[in-house]
Amino acid sequence: MDIAFDNSFHAAMEGFYAPAEAAKPSMPTLLAFNHALAERLGIDVAGVRDETIASLFSGQELPGGANPLALAYAGHQFGHFSPQLGDGRALLLGEIVAPDGARFDLQLKGSGPTPFSRNGDGKAAIGPVLREFLVSEAMAAMGVPTTRALAAVATGDRVQRERAHPGAVLTRIASSHIRVGTFQFFAAHFGADHVVQLSDYSIRRHFPDLVEAPNPHLALLDRVIGLQCDLVAHWLGVGFIHGVMNTDNVAISGETIDYGPCAFMDRFAANTVFSSIDANGRYAYGRQPQILHWNMARFAEALLPAIHKVDAADVEAAKALVAEVPGRFAAVWAARMRQKLGLTEAHDGDTALFDTLFAELERHQVDFTLFFRGLARMLHGDGADLEAQLPDADAMVPWIADWWARLARETDAPLNRAEAMDAVNPLYIPRNHLVEAALGAAEAGDLTSWLELLNVVRNPYVRRPEWALFEGAAPAEFGPYKTFC
Ligand code: AMP
Ligand code: MG
Ligand code: MG
Repeated sequence: MDIAFDNSFHAAMEGFYAPAEAAKPSMPTLLAFNHALAERLGIDVAGVRDETIASLFSGQELPGGANPLALAYAGHQFGHFSPQLGDGRALLLGEIVAPDGARFDLQLKGSGPTPFSRNGDGKAAIGPVLREFLVSEAMAAMGVPTTRALAAVATGDRVQRERAHPGAVLTRIASSHIRVGTFQFFAAHFGADHVVQLSDYSIRRHFPDLVEAPNPHLALLDRVIGLQCDLVAHWLGVGFIHGVMNTDNVAISGETIDYGPCAFMDRFAANTVFSSIDANGRYAYGRQPQILHWNMARFAEALLPAIHKVDAADVEAAKALVAEVPGRFAAVWAARMRQKLGLTEAHDGDTALFDTLFAELERHQVDFTLFFRGLARMLHGDGADLEAQLPDADAMVPWIADWWARLARETDAPLNRAEAMDAVNPLYIPRNHLVEAALGAAEAGDLTSWLELLNVVRNPYVRRPEWALFEGAAPAEFGPYKTFC
C-alpha cells in the first residue's frame, strides 16, 4: 500500500518538533478501519491484507515516505500555563494531499514515548481509542468540524492505568495539529521570529487567502476566532461537552481535537460536567462559550509579537477582536438555534425565545436531543413524541405557543420546516450508557456492539424503527456519569 506523503511541516519547520520513533507493538491486530475516509484521502487499500494495515497503522512498520516526529507545544491547562507539553503519546507520520488537493496530517496516537512524554508511557488503552474513533465519527456525521479516525489497531500489549488494559493505537487525520498551544510554546520560549514563522506557515497551509492581508497575523487571529465561534456553536447545538478545553486542545483549523473525557448531555442542564478531572466545572456545557473567549485571548497574546512586528498599532486591533468574541459567538449561536427551531429569519425577541427555552428545558429536565425531534413532529400535527419527553402534557405549553407565534411571523409559510429541522437536529447521538456498554464489550474482545453503535451514529438524522434502543437517554439505573481521560 502506497501513501503519497508530502511532509511540509517536517521540511519547513525544523526546530518546531522533535524527530521520534514509534514503539513496536508485540502483536498488532486491526480493530477498525475507516474505508470511506481512506477513499477520501486517496489511500487505496483494495487487496491489502488486514495484517498489513494493522502493521502500518500501529508503528510496527513505517509507511514509505513517513517522517515521524513529535510536535512541540505548550498550553494553559485548567487556567494554568504549562510551558512544555508537546506530543507525549502521538507521532505525526506526515501529510497526505487528498485527490481534491486538501492536505491532512496522519498521526499515530498511543505509539509509545517521545521526547515530550515527561512521566507518561506514551501509550493508549483500547477504551479511549475506540471512544475517540466513535465520537469523532459521530461528530463528522453531524457536520461538526473534527479530526477523523482512520484506523484503530490493538497492540497486543498491556497499558497500565488504574488497572491494566489492552493497548491500542489510533490513526488520526487532521487538517493539521497546530494548536493555540503551539503558538504559546514559541511565544514563551523564542519570541517574535518564531511566532512569525509559525503564523506564516499556518496561513499558507490553512488560509492562503490571508497571505496578502495588511497584517496577516492579525487576519489569522480574526479567522481563528471565527472558526472557533462556529465550532463551539456546533458543540452546544448537539449537546456536546468537550471536557478539556485547554489551549493545547484548541486546533487553529477549527476542528474538534483531543477527544478525552468528552460526552453528550442527555437532560438539559447548563452546568453539566462529566469529566472526573473537572472538579470545579470549568468546562461545563454552558461555560464553553466563555472558555472560548478566554482561549482566544490567550491566542491573541501568543500572536502579539508577530502582530506588533508588522504594525505596532494593530495591537489595539487585536485587543478589539478579542473583546468582540462574545458578540460574534452570540450571533453564530443565534443562527444555529434558529436552524434547530425551523426559523429562517432573524427577528427581535429571538434571544429571549431561546433563553426561555433553555430555562424551560432545564426546569422540566427535558432530553436535549429528543426535544427538537419532538418539536418538529408538532409541525405534522403530532404532539406525542414531544409529550413523551415532558413531565406532564402542560409543561412548556406557553413556550410552544410563543414558538408557533414566532413561526407565523416568517414571510414564507413554514410548511416544510419539519424536514429542515430533522436535517440539523440529530436523533442518534453517542448516548453515554451505549458508549460505556460498547467499550466494555470491546475491551473484553467483542466488537459487535461498538460496530453497531458506530453504524448508528454515522447516520444520525433519519429514524429507523429497528434502532429504537439507540434513541433514548440512559435508564435511571445507569446513574450519574463520570468520564476519565
Ligand atoms: P491531553 O490532556 O490528553 O490532551 O494531554 C495533555 C498532555 O499530556 C499532552 O502533551 C499529551 O501528549 C500528554 N500525555 C497525555 N497522556 C500521555 C501519556 N500516556 N504518555 C505521555 N504523554 C501523555
Ligand atoms: Mg491534548
Ligand atoms: Mg487527550
